[in-house]
Amino acid sequence: MIIWGSRSKASTKESGRFYCPHCQGHRQYELKHSKQYFTLYFVRTFPIQDHGEYVECTSCKTTYDKKILDYDPEKEAEEYKAVYLLLILDLLIKLAITKNSIENLDISKIENAYLQATQISLDKDLLMNAYQRVKNSDKTYTQIANQLSTIANEFGKEAILRASIKIISEDKTVTKNELEMLFDLSESLQIPRAYVRGIFIEEDITI
Ligand SMILES: [Zn+2]
Repeated sequence: MIIWGSRSKASTKESGRFYCPHCQGHRQYELKHSKQYFTLYFVRTFPIQDHGEYVECTSCKTTYDKKILDYDPEKEAEEYKAVYLLLILDLLIKLAITKNSIENLDISKIENAYLQATQISLDKDLLMNAYQRVKNSDKTYTQIANQLSTIANEFGKEAILRASIKIISEDKTVTKNELEMLFDLSESLQIPRAYVRGIFIEEDITI
């Protein structure tokens, strides 16, 4: 009697670090290639089916499609945050340029407003790059604010508005034009008008 069957065998092709959704963190992985072999008297002979490649987490043993190696939510979140911070900077510079002329740009005011909105000190190179970018762009401050409204949460929006007030109002009094700018801005940020008035009161703004 001839005893035959099949058995699958996985070989490791490479290994490294990846983000495992099951473990919810970075772990070691192995990229494996699995093939089904024909066996004769329990001995592997030739492959009969190629199951292809898959990724296995060495910690939890969960297996994934190879595409998982491109997935890194922590890195994505970082990139997302970088875009968010740059948009805030662009907005503050655009507001300053719109309000004053480019020649009269008060850099320290932008630095302070940025620090207030983000809790991050502004890097000089980042500021100069942003300045060049905003200067050469047709994007209006309402368009930048519109973009921000899609990624900022309620706290973020409020912080951005408060920082913008610092840029737009010289002292605690706002002119009709400045008020219009602030309302346009709030609308683009999708902050309800009643809420905006509350922030004005808190910031001691008289109209
Ligand atoms: Zn895992």
